[in-house]
Formats: sequence, C-alpha cells, structure tokens
Amino acid sequence: MEYEAVIGLEIHVELQTDSKIFCGCSTAFGAEPNTNCCPGCLGLPGTLPLLNRRAVEYGVLAALALNCQVQEKSIFARKNYFYPDLPKAYQISQDDYPLARGGYLEIDLPEGSRRINLQRAHLEEEAGKLVHAGDSIMSAAYSLVDYNRAGVPLLEIVTEPEITSGREARLFLEELRRLLRYTGVSDVKMEEGSLRCDANLSLRPAGSSELGTRTEVKNLNSFRAVEQALNYEAERQARILAGGGEVIQATCHWDDSCKATVVMRMKEGAADYRYFPEPDLPPLLLERSYIEALKEKLPELPRQKRQRLRERYGLDDEEAAIIADTREMADFFECAAESYQDHRNLANWVQGDLIYQLREAGKEIEQISPALLVELLEMLDRGEINRPVAKELLEEMVKSGASPRRLVKKRGLGKISGTEELAPLVEQVITENPEAAENYRRGKKKALAFLVGKVMALTRGRADPQELNRLFKEKL
Ligand code: ADP
Ligand code: MG
Ligand code: ZN
Repeated sequence: MEYEAVIGLEIHVELQTDSKIFCGCSTAFGAEPNTNCCPGCLGLPGTLPLLNRRAVEYGVLAALALNCQVQEKSIFARKNYFYPDLPKAYQISQDDYPLARGGYLEIDLPEGSRRINLQRAHLEEEAGKLVHAGDSIMSAAYSLVDYNRAGVPLLEIVTEPEITSGREARLFLEELRRLLRYTGVSDVKMEEGSLRCDANLSLRPAGSSELGTRTEVKNLNSFRAVEQALNYEAERQARILAGGGEVIQATCHWDDSCKATVVMRMKEGAADYRYFPEPDLPPLLLERSYIEALKEKLPELPRQKRQRLRERYGLDDEEAAIIADTREMADFFECAAESYQDHRNLANWVQGDLIYQLREAGKEIEQISPALLVELLEMLDRGEINRPVAKELLEEMVKSGASPRRLVKKRGLGKISGTEELAPLVEQVITENPEAAENYRRGKKKALAFLVGKVMALTRGRADPQELNRLFKEKL
C-alpha cells in the first residue's frame, strides 16, 4: 500500500524579555548555573507568580504576525508532572484558553506557495535544564540540574497536522524563524535552544482523510535534525505497517550521532497532566485596543518584503529571498539602492561577496555602511578599478570599515593606463618573451593576448588592456 506522511509541529520559542515570565530573575543565557534563581524559580512554598507584561506583548506580537486570533481572555493552567528540571512539579502553561487561536504561515515551495494552518499559540514557562554527565541522557552516570532557565517565557506554537514531508517541515521552520526574528520577540538561536521543535508524524493510506497513530520526536534543535528525524520516522513507520504491524503512540528522542529515533516513553494523554486553572494568577484579559495597537507595531514581514523587493527592484525570487532573509540585510540593500541604480548588480554583490566577507570577518551587516559599497561599485563601473581589485577592497572595507576610495589612493590600486607607466613594462615583457614577440610579428594574433596577459600578471590585473594592445602593436 502507498502511505503518505502527516506531520504536525509544536514549536517552543523563548521570548527575549530581560526578566522571567513570573519573577524578576534575569533570563541571560550562559550564566553560572543556578545564579539567576529566586525562591519562585526554585518552586519553594509561599512564593507567588507575577506575570511579565513584556512577555505578553511579545507573545501577542508573534501571534499577530502569524495571523492568529488573539484572545481577549486567556487562562493560565497548571500542567502537572514530575521531572527533576521542574521543581514545582507543575508547569504554568495554558490549556483550554490559550493566548491565541488559529492563524497560518505561508511557505514557498518549489511547486508554489502553501499555507500551513496553526491550531494555537500559548504562553508558558520554561523548565530548568538537566546537564547529563557524558554526552547521552541514556548512558549518563549522573545528571546535574541548572534552574537558570526555569521561568524563561515561552511561546508554544502548534500547527495543524497538515505538513507532508520532512523537507516541508524544515521549510516551515525556516520561514517561522525568519518571521519571528523580524518581529524581534526572540533571538531564535536554535543552538542555544531559543527555538526548538517537537515533531509529530503518522502515516495513512494515500488519499485517506483519517489520521493514523502518531509518534512524537521531542526537542529537535536544528533544521537538519527535524528533517532527518521525520524522514527516519516515516521510514520506520512504513516498515512496521508493511510488515503488518501497528505503530504504537510514543514519545521519542532523536539521537543525532546514530541518526535514529529512540523511544523514551509511551505517550501520555492530556488527562495525565491533570490540568486545572492556575489559582495564583487571574485570567489574562486583553483589550481590543491593546491588541490593535500592537498590530500597528508589526514591521513589514518577510513574505511582503520579498514581494516588494521583486516588484520595486526587479530582483528574482532567489535574490529577493536572500536579501530579505533579515530586516538588517534588506535595510542595507534598500539604503544602497537609493543612490545606486543597477539594483541587480547591487543585489549580486550583497548576496555573494558581501555576505561571504561578513562571515569571514565575523561581522554583522549593520556594522557596514551602505554608502561604502556604493562607492566601491561606482569606481568599478567607471573602470577606475578592476574586478579582482574591487573584491580585495571589499574585504578590506568589511574588515576595517575603510573607504574604498581612500584605500585605492593610499595603496595605488587604481587602473594603470598612463603610457609612461606601461611602456617600460611592455619593453620588459617583449625582452623576456622573444618567441612570442617574433610570432606576433609573423602574424600570429594570439601571441598578442599572451603578451598582454604577461603585463596583466606583472600589475596584478591593474593595467588597462586597451592601452596595452595599442602599445604592443606600436612596438612590434
Ligand atoms: P500533545 O502532543 O501535547 O498531546 P496535540 O495532541 O494537540 O498535543 O498535538 C500536538 C501536535 O501533533 C499538533 O501539531 C498536531 O497537529 C499533531 N498531531 C496530532 N495528531 C497527529 C497525527 N495523527 N499525525 C500527525 N500529527 C498529529
Ligand atoms: Mg506534544
Ligand atoms: Zn526567579
């Protein structure tokens, strides 16, 4: 039988507030273990939660960017379970009354765009972090716990089960990350766990409308891991079904070194968590006007920006996608495009050499002045410098922030076209390459290119080739 994959994602996003969601402790990443904690973070009796206004604002902003219906009333609930990283033995989350419902994110696929619908987005608190001795949770002799992360605000975003492949899940997450970065509510650093994903997958007979039994892979923290884990699960489930077996609903862990999923536990149902309304927090009531005001604060989002870059500057899909990857890059491009008219050429330099040099220098694009790139491209267009020199200058410009024009003056990198400078070089090359010179005299046109090339090499490409042609012809 032919099967098709059905995938739903639960994405956890750490909101980048300065303090935690229910106390005043710092959310700074990478602090000494257990130094950003108070009795509340540690779940000591007698402490009470106090909601962080900024966490709500960020949650609402993200939900609006995702086209969700933000709820005027949402309710915090206790999700009860025991685990050493959760000292209260419950997590304050939201259950039947989430912050936002519905919504969607549109993604671009090779075959066209697709809308992935969302079920909900809700606020909750992070748990602490277990640090396992050795690399693996399975083989660790002991584990240590760090409560610094406990209470960092999270937005959980849940999709409908309608993603169809590991590849599509990855594209969805990449676009989601881009969108969240645009809104500024999270630093979305997957390597620091600010964005991570649980992936649910089931198979069903192709064309069927019923859902099969799913497995859930927990805490995937790279795009690659999401794609690989889902592909692996799809194959594993297909083998089970092909063998006449049944998929058992379970929670798995992705082992990145073995490239395999490992079943951690049988899946618990919602009833196991004994959700009940958090008695220490009142319902969260938001006024329409508050929500509308936040909507006004949303920046232009990636999809609209890509479209505008295509229409306004004539960029193609790929160029627009790269330039609009971050707001900072798009701002840089648009600022430069105001004074530089060849927009395609500009886009080419930004997406190619500039991004490369930024990476090499470990710099961010907002540290570079767009005017300097324009200065460089104008010198190149006017023939004052050649391409290899332009690339050299770009490297230097990114590293030191120096003006390319000044660098050319200081280092004498401009084009050499004066006869006084070129004539001696022409003489020298003729003396050093008598056969080529003789060949040219006897009518072999190719020999001229060879001789010109020699002077080019001596000047590292800075000599004016037209002037050289003229000089050689005159001499020979
Ligand atoms: P939880 O995993 O916390 O119990 P849900 O049951 O609401 O929460 O589902 C979480 C995610 O699993 C959602 O993204 C949903 O789309 C997805 N999902 C639910 N059922 C299936 C299924 N049969 N196959 C694939 N994904 C599913
Ligand atoms: Mg789940
Ligand atoms: Zn605290």
